[in-house]
Amino acid sequence: MTVSSLSKIILGVKNIVVEKVEIEECNLDSQLIISARPHKRDMCRCSVCGQKSPRYDCGNGIRRWRAPDFGTGLKVYVEAEAPRVCCPEHGVVVQQFPWARRHSKFTRNFEDTVIWLSLHLSRKAVAEYLRISWDTVGPIISRVEKELSANNQPLDNLVNIGIDETSYKKGHKYITVIVNHDTNAVVWAAKGHGKTVLEPFFKQLDVKQRSKIRLVSGDGARWIKDTV
Ligand SMILES: [Zn+2]
Repeated sequence: MTVSSLSKIILGVKNIVVEKVEIEECNLDSQLIISARPHKRDMCRCSVCGQKSPRYDCGNGIRRWRAPDFGTGLKVYVEAEAPRVCCPEHGVVVQQFPWARRHSKFTRNFEDTVIWLSLHLSRKAVAEYLRISWDTVGPIISRVEKELSANNQPLDNLVNIGIDETSYKKGHKYITVIVNHDTNAVVWAAKGHGKTVLEPFFKQLDVKQRSKIRLVSGDGARWIKDTV
């Protein structure tokens, strides 16, 4: 296996060009820096709509995104130039990157790990385990929620699903999350909890999608039982 292939596995994306991989010493700590760029066909795409757009300028230069750790705790970052493009619809915006969501300093697979861990651990525990600041967990959850609600494809072919609620903002705010047990993917999320939050999930499914669901797991809360 080449270093480039290994880097793509770490970043969770195939269609990129890995230019360089090196170890950087930082405050007595080592970190792995993967310099990469999107494939030519994915360069200069608007980060809002994905449309190919003319390059505007070089933006703020080189950007870094934190990726999942390698081995027993080597921090990994992907680094790339982040030019701005001029989208006919969305104006001047930073170009899209296949490994990260818009406005994020983390890779997609890192954020997906945050979501999964948030279903099982407190925000403090998630932040400590992943070595991130506790106040980045909430924005990550919001970003993934936004993406999922804009794309309802994951709602096809649900058979075994899990419903869970998790809190953020010191336990004052809740988010309800639906997981597809067969793919281990978060397929839907919404702010709040309770029947009024969960009902729209089932209402947006068509008859065919609903009839495929065979198993629903949850913590036994009355609002989950009643809605299901
Ligand atoms: Zn656009």
